[in-house]
Amino acid sequence: MERELKFATKCVHAAEKPDPVFGAHTTPIFQTSTFIFENARQGAARFAKEESGYVYTRIPPNTPTHAVLAEKFAELEGGEAGQTFASGMAAITAIALTTLKQGDHLISTDVIYGCTFSLFSEVLPGLGIDVSFVDTSDIENVKRAIKPETKMVFLETPANPTLILCDIAEIAGIARENGALCVVDNTFATPYFQRPLELGADLSLSSCTKYIGGHADLLGGIVAGNKDFMNRMSLVVGYTGGIMGLHEAWLCIRGLKTLHIRMDRHAENAMKVAEFLESRPEVEWVRYPGLTSHPQHELARKQMSGFSGMLSFEVKGGIEAGRRLMDNVKLCSLAVSLGATDTLIQHPALMTHACVPLAVRKRIGITDGLVRLSVGIEDSEDIIEDLKQALEAI
Ligand SMILES: *Cc1c(COP(=O)(O)O)cnc(C)c1O
Repeated sequence: MERELKFATKCVHAAEKPDPVFGAHTTPIFQTSTFIFENARQGAARFAKEESGYVYTRIPPNTPTHAVLAEKFAELEGGEAGQTFASGMAAITAIALTTLKQGDHLISTDVIYGCTFSLFSEVLPGLGIDVSFVDTSDIENVKRAIKPETKMVFLETPANPTLILCDIAEIAGIARENGALCVVDNTFATPYFQRPLELGADLSLSSCTKYIGGHADLLGGIVAGNKDFMNRMSLVVGYTGGIMGLHEAWLCIRGLKTLHIRMDRHAENAMKVAEFLESRPEVEWVRYPGLTSHPQHELARKQMSGFSGMLSFEVKGGIEAGRRLMDNVKLCSLAVSLGATDTLIQHPALMTHACVPLAVRKRIGITDGLVRLSVGIEDSEDIIEDLKQALEAI
């Protein structure tokens, strides 16, 4: 058997195919909306899915540019196939519409990306889908929430913004025993640090807007999993049309080529920043999976090969202190989103999770003083100096 390439080599080489027409070194952008068939028989066979190939850009496999990205990502996640989307939310929507119908039940991590929470709590119930938000950090809660109608268990780990983890292997096992699909939002960790499919999950998805693109200059989403699911989802993709733009697909292919080196620097810097913050009197506590003070540090070590670049911390003095900290940073950018080359700082209670009702926010630990940091790939000394002067100013 051929030796499997290492992750870094896959980032650079996986799915890359030299252009057969002119020999261009990088994957071309196939800027087209439709594809020419050789004859009527071929056109009919492609529509009937008797023959693989391209048809129309909305219909998977979309274009060769999209296909290269999907294949590259699937190889990195250890999946059979992949599908690209216009955004992370388009990916989550397509997964939900492929899996759930009226009368079905969805179990979701209670601490999740704000718009995922809104989709699950406001849109899906209107379609007759029953949703339970549970604290998935305790698997007993998942076992208790399972019903005969449960068709999907949706996990986010590390979770946004509290950095709480859940045990993917354990929960995927429970989901499988009960005939439910286990889906993991792997945006925070990326396949470099965590591979949910290898832990038993059915699907792993990422918002490409974050670490995959990596430069805060695009929107995109991507899913990896088995071929059977991708085939079923391709109908929903074709009918709903949340397709990734071609330029975005090309930028994501480029982004993945440096994923491994960016993630190493993000994680190295995040660890240093986390340790610095933990030593500060203005800071109540710091949550970073790499710190031994993280309540699930052992689980982090078990299912992640590194701890990525996201951390959160509680400033003493609540919302006002948080506001002053944010108004005083100079190097860090005051912005939502994450996974950019620069360090981004934001206040979940005022920004990304303002849409989550106050009572829910309180219950799941999104406190008023919680600050979320996406640690960039600058020199860690400069990030720490900036935070130091901003903390001293509050
Ligand atoms: C950003 C994000 C999403 C949504 O992705 P978009 O590309 O913004 O639609 C979903 N999950 C997590 C964890 C995210 O950070």
